Amino acid sequence: MRHLLLKPWLLLSLAATLGTTASCTDDEGNPVLFSVEDDKALGVKVAAQTDSTYRAQGKLLERTAPANRRAYELLDVVVNKVLNSGELQHRNDFPWDVKIIKDDAVQNAFATPGGHIYVFSGLVKFLEDENQLAGVLGHEIAHADRRHTSRMLQQQYGISLLLSLLVGDNPGQLVQIAAGLGQLKFSRDFEVEADQYSVVYLNKTTYACDGAAGFFIKAEAQGQGNPPTFLSTHPNPGSRVQNIQTKATELGCRNRTVSSATFDELKRIL
Ligand SMILES: [Zn+2]
Repeated sequence: MRHLLLKPWLLLSLAATLGTTASCTDDEGNPVLFSVEDDKALGVKVAAQTDSTYRAQGKLLERTAPANRRAYELLDVVVNKVLNSGELQHRNDFPWDVKIIKDDAVQNAFATPGGHIYVFSGLVKFLEDENQLAGVLGHEIAHADRRHTSRMLQQQYGISLLLSLLVGDNPGQLVQIAAGLGQLKFSRDFEVEADQYSVVYLNKTTYACDGAAGFFIKAEAQGQGNPPTFLSTHPNPGSRVQNIQTKATELGCRNRTVSSATFDELKRIL
């Protein structure tokens, strides 16, 4: 057997290259310095802070409380259908969970890096059916799975600050980041991608895969007067509804109906 003779400096340089770029590239081959493991670690920190913020306000519906058991049972069914669509890149890398924030005045949902999803009761109550809920959840799940949230945070705060949070430095900054997550504004490119993936995920479920379009039609119809919070943080990339419907037609998964019984029950008990 021939042994490759590698000089120590070459090994070091190879290790440095692999550690920074080759092992961490996105779909387009661009270097991503923040690793999937970093997403997970940041997600745990940000989710713990988010929980504690809303818990202090009495708005976090605790999973462990018997009064909330049924709401989570109903919501988990929808979330799990999307998560188990077979289309996620990090289904088994991230812990994935969903929590409800009881605030009927806020029609929003957001995701931390690493797959912790938060849904406001006001959003569920605003939606017409389970297809729309699955569609909006699919959009949020895409932001976490495609790592949009951590990339937006990197852009806004810089990688060294985010890495410092992982080792417990800058606790004040962590509070601020967690508090701002529901207002984190995504780029139009990320919005287009999240819309497209929402359709791709739902295609592999029993839901009408253009469910997100139904939500956006209703949200935009509400007009300038009182638009849902979701629209300010997820800007319309232009022809949004049409793009979703075009993708859905292409995949042939638009016209599916879903029973309203469980969704109506969820709305009622929230
Ligand atoms: Zn979005």
